[in-house]
Amino acid sequence: MLSSSLLMIICFYGATVQNVDGWGAVGHSLVASLAQSQLTAEASQWVKSLVPWYLSGNLTAVATWADSILYPDTNPFDHPNWQWSRQLHYLNTPSWVCSYDPSRDCINDICIEGALRNYSKRVIDANFDDIQHKEALMFLVHYAGDVHQPLHVGFQTDLGGNSIKGYFMNQTFQTNLHSLWDSGLISIRLSRDYGSNITSYYEHIYSLMLEQGSTSNNEDFIQWIQESLKHVCQQIYLDESNMIMNASVNFTLGNIYYERNIGIIEQRLAQGGRRLGTLLNRLAADRLTISSRCDKLCSNMNKLITMLICILARTLMS
Ligand SMILES: [Zn+2]
Repeated sequence: MLSSSLLMIICFYGATVQNVDGWGAVGHSLVASLAQSQLTAEASQWVKSLVPWYLSGNLTAVATWADSILYPDTNPFDHPNWQWSRQLHYLNTPSWVCSYDPSRDCINDICIEGALRNYSKRVIDANFDDIQHKEALMFLVHYAGDVHQPLHVGFQTDLGGNSIKGYFMNQTFQTNLHSLWDSGLISIRLSRDYGSNITSYYEHIYSLMLEQGSTSNNEDFIQWIQESLKHVCQQIYLDESNMIMNASVNFTLGNIYYERNIGIIEQRLAQGGRRLGTLLNRLAADRLTISSRCDKLCSNMNKLITMLICILARTLMS
């Protein structure tokens, strides 16, 4: 007989669960590197104090931490303890509704939008300790990437494209729509046009980010989500004959789909990087304000205590 806990584990992994990897290692690294390139001196110092010391402040190295903790192959012993964070990598809407409603799609803040709000606060909240600040930063870096992958804001019925399966570029193995957007399209672009050289590809996305200018330089999480949803509703589900893909038929996609969508992916990577950088800069500045407010409060408290001691001493001496 199977023990109940073993049965639970089998049920958990046997069930169709939403893939939460987001951009995959390349996409997340690009977003984190772009963000890092935008940091002010204070923000760089602050970030350096939060990432593990041996990484010398490198945000890229922690960009996929939030995924790696979830899976037995990357976190064999401890992954069950992190499953609570699984739902924070995405949100789902009803099919073809095409707008985000927090009361329907993010109940009790358990979704990517709630996570972005929550960890933006926690990362500079003086009530939390250093470990909690580090954890909040690593979640924030990851979720800011995920939310710009449009299918992390996808439809509930097909699990953000995970259950729409098919074949891409004559490859013999089956993939799914979500995975194509996480990494399949990016990996074709990287090998085809950049000789698999991530640094050259980064330079391309970096120049896209600069071209976008300050219009994409905002911290409106709901707007980020609406933009992703727009791509989901207008573009992502259309196959090469402009038919809407669904889970009941396997897709066959190739160059037409790739050419039509790779530009959107690169735009989203560039926006994600720019916005994460802006967010971290603002948080670093707010953090300084909070600590200077605390310093002021402490010095006022010190003055008050000194005054009280003086009054007491004078009373005793008189
Ligand atoms: Zn993720």
